[in-house]
This record gives sequence, C-alpha cells and structure tokens, in this order.
Amino acid sequence: MPASARSLPAVRPSVRKLSRDLVALRRDLHRHPELSWQEKRTQEVILERLRAWGLEDVRPIADTGATALVRGARPGRTLLWRADIDALPIQERNEVDYVSTVPGVMHACGHDGHVAIALGLARLLHEARGGLAGNVRFVFQPAEEMVGGAKRCVEEGILEDPVVDAVLGLHVAADVPTGAIVVGPGPAFAAPTAISITIRGRGGHAAMPHQTVDAVVVAAQAVTTLQTVVSRSTSPADTVVLTIGSIHGGERPNIIAEEVRMTGSIRTFDDKVLERTLKRVEEVIAGVTAAMAAEYEFSHYTACPVVVNDVTVTALVEGEARAFFGEERVLRRPPSTGADDMAVFLEKVPGCYFFLGGRPQQPARRFPHHHPGFDFDERALTLGLEFGLRLVEGYLRVVVRTEL
Ligand SMILES: [Zn+2]
Ligand SMILES: [Zn+2]
Repeated sequence: MPASARSLPAVRPSVRKLSRDLVALRRDLHRHPELSWQEKRTQEVILERLRAWGLEDVRPIADTGATALVRGARPGRTLLWRADIDALPIQERNEVDYVSTVPGVMHACGHDGHVAIALGLARLLHEARGGLAGNVRFVFQPAEEMVGGAKRCVEEGILEDPVVDAVLGLHVAADVPTGAIVVGPGPAFAAPTAISITIRGRGGHAAMPHQTVDAVVVAAQAVTTLQTVVSRSTSPADTVVLTIGSIHGGERPNIIAEEVRMTGSIRTFDDKVLERTLKRVEEVIAGVTAAMAAEYEFSHYTACPVVVNDVTVTALVEGEARAFFGEERVLRRPPSTGADDMAVFLEKVPGCYFFLGGRPQQPARRFPHHHPGFDFDERALTLGLEFGLRLVEGYLRVVVRTEL
C-alpha cells in the first residue's frame, strides 16, 4: 500500500476537539507574520491565551518571546518544550484565504504551526496538571531565522527555576509525508559560521595595471583557491561546506579596484573540523594576497553550535514515535547542513529536535521551506499535539487526563 493511502494515526478526543482551534490559530498567525525580533503581535496572541487558560509564570522573554509553566501537582522532572515563532522576509505567492497580509513577510518555515501546537499542548497539560508529576516549561522563542533568540532565552534564565532536565523541539517538515516523523540521535543541524574577507590592493587606471595591485584579480584568485579547502584539505569523512555568498568591489570599467569585500558561510558538525577549516581559509587568503602584493582582513562568527540530539532522550522520542506513527513511519535522515538555534538549548541540557511530517496533499502545492509557495498539511497540527502529549507522558512517566 502506498504511504499516502494509509490512514493517519488516531488522536485522543481532547486533541480532536482542539483541531479546529489549532487550524484557526495557525491561520491567524499565518495572516500576520512577523520578522525576527519584531514578533509583537504574535507575542501578544500567545500571552493572552496562556493567561486566559490560567497557566503559571506567564511572561514575555527575550523581548518578543513568551514563556509559561505547567506545574504538576506532584514533584518530578522538568521538561522544556521549545517552539520558534518568527517569519521570513519573503513575499508569499500562495492563493489561500489565509495568505499573509503583510507585504514581503511570510511564515515560510511553518513556525505558525509550531506556535499552534505548543499552545495546544500548554492548554491540555495545564488542564491535566493535577495528574502530573513534574513540570513542563514552554518557550515561544523569537528570532530563530536570524539565530539569536535561543541565546537570549537562556541568558534570561529559561533553563532555571525550575531547573530544566531535558528539552524537546518540533519542526514541521513539508518534505516528509504527513503521519511520518524524522528523528535520530547525534547531529541534526550544522553550526553556521559567517566569514568576512576584505582584500586590499592599490587602485589606479585600468590602462596602467602595472602601477596597481588589482584587488579584483586577487579576490578572484582567492575565491578559486578557497575551493580547495574542502576538496583538498578536508578529510572525506568530515562534512564541511564553504560558500562565498557575496563579492563586492570596484565602481567603473576604467578604474582598477582598490578593495574587494566578500562574505561567506562555513557549515560544520565538529568544533575541531571548524577550527581546521578556519585556519586553512585564512592561510589561503594570506598566501594568495601575499603572493600578489595585496593585504587582507579576515573575521568570522559562529552564530550557534551544532544541533546534537541526546542518545537517551532521542531513544524515548523514537520509542513513542514507533508506538504512535508506526515502525515504518519513523524515518532517519542524514544531518542537514542548515542551522537552527535549538542547538543553544541542546548544548546546555539533553534533548531532541525532531521533524514532524506535513507534506501538502496536492503534489502541485509542495515547495521547500523558505519558498514563496511553502505551505504544510494542517493535519500535522493534531498529530503534533497528540505526539507532544505522548512525549510528556513518556518523559514524566504519567498519563495526561483532561476533561476537555
Ligand atoms: Zn526556517
Ligand atoms: Zn524553521
């Protein structure tokens, strides 16, 4: 039987009852997307609901984020559930009635869905707190797409009081069939390192190059030689990406450029490999510029670490996933060279970041994340909520009962 013909796993009645709410909320957020660090309305919507449902410790965090606590009636471990909330600078081109109303801004990564699922989870768990042993802290994290929100949340104490023992995060995946899940131990996303290179030569007349040091020629040589950092200096067993993404220099056809500025990105899964790569990159730039009588400046910034899933917590997630989605719908996937600042939480506490299938049913509506035509199958919302409840039950070793 093809995967698409299979029926989706059943969710409990309280989750089914929330399904319309989840869709309505996700669509409301989709209509009103906000860029990183500008999630004011989103924050208001989240805080308003958390307060209305009576959750504990409801407050803003990291400027435009929010947090709340479900405190179980009995003591136990504390789990952090992380949902990112920001949108992207993309003009949506979907023809749906919940299309973005903000020109040039779009929820093109599914974070609107993450908020809806996390709010549903907070609501049901709060209802069921009388039967809980342990706590669940929620963080609605701003600025994932720009990377930085997670760091702020940690700096502002999200992992303390009560001390967080483990962290879970869900990301919808528009390229994974609805009713399937991608999860596995170890690295899931790379560490992104931004690099900046300035080549300085000596300007002059295009007709008299011998009196100059042409920064354009030096930069061209540097870009070409940088291609050997991965292909010739990195072990085939290590994953490294090195991309020069921008190059700017020169003004006019008859002037030799004095300066060229370049920026790029390095992706790695291991600190030592990153260190070696940065060293080689600088050696190449230093060597090329020295050989051509130019000068250089080089700087780099690693915005967040590698996303690494903890073996024990991931085994729990995989076990619950097999029980809920079915053995053959729990998928593994090689680590992505993309990045996600979920890494910052995972660096501090053991946890797991997993990908919930939400591939649109119509093939013509399937687009990658960050694409103007991106959308996901909203049936993933109830599946995500049910699965979230099962994870909390599994981690806190309780059964969640709600009257809803
Ligand atoms: Zn994204
Ligand atoms: Zn995302």
